[in-house]
Amino acid sequence: MKILVMGPPGAGKGSQSAKIVEHYALPSISTGQMFRDAFNNNEPIGIEAMKYIKDGNLVSDDITNEIVRIRLSKHDAEKSFLLDGYPRTVAQAIALDNLLEEMGTKLDAVFNILSSNDVLFERMEQRRVCKQCDATYHLKFKKPLVEGICDKCGGTLYQRQDDTYESVKNRLEIYESKTKPLLDYYDKKGILYQINGMQEFEKVYNDIELVLRDL
Ligand code: ADP
Ligand code: ADP
Ligand code: ZN
Repeated sequence: MKILVMGPPGAGKGSQSAKIVEHYALPSISTGQMFRDAFNNNEPIGIEAMKYIKDGNLVSDDITNEIVRIRLSKHDAEKSFLLDGYPRTVAQAIALDNLLEEMGTKLDAVFNILSSNDVLFERMEQRRVCKQCDATYHLKFKKPLVEGICDKCGGTLYQRQDDTYESVKNRLEIYESKTKPLLDYYDKKGILYQINGMQEFEKVYNDIELVLRDL
């Protein structure tokens, strides 16, 4: 099973991806997460990427394609994987197709999680992330049991540097201009599934599950 999870920032890509990979035991590949981890570990690529990320701009296609290429060449990604937040530009989609062709494989499904901008702004304002294990919380809809502490690992919760109003606004504009054209690209291949992200976590997951079950 080789799938993509797409959608504007805050749509619920990370939350749904976590459920899917748990249920289907797939390796999860999130470019945003890989950049944040590299930054937290003081790696040069992470420090370079954060210059773009903090203001809500995209990291260059070259850097992004390269980290994905390295990750997909690992043994665990041979049979199945879930890509979260990649590709985000047409150039990345083409690079991915070329890479998969080299690997003798292709994508099975692309999920686009839809939401209104009002909901997205609210979600990102209320989002908190675990410093240690990257689990995501929402101050209203997915509250940690103890304030400021991750339920899963006891790590500290923090607000992402790029979850400010200005950065979110910029990310939504970039999504419209650079990422949305990809939907057409995948629709033409007949593998695009639109998912209503403005429902409860479980309902969104059920809609995705219905498609996955038949792949
Ligand atoms: P993305 O990876 O697309 O940016 P996240 O999965 O991090 O999105 O979700 C953004 C925020 O919205 C998080 O705080 C998350 O807990 C919350 N969230 C995600 N899906 C839902 C949902 N269906 N209902 C309510 N809140 C949600
Ligand atoms: P969100 O969907 O909530 O914005 P992500 O964790 O997917 O969060 O991405 C965070 C940031 O990392 C993006 O705003 C962007 O700066 C960078 N990033 C992630 N994936 C890509 C990508 N495929 N291409 C370029 N930049 C990316
Ligand atoms: Zn944690």
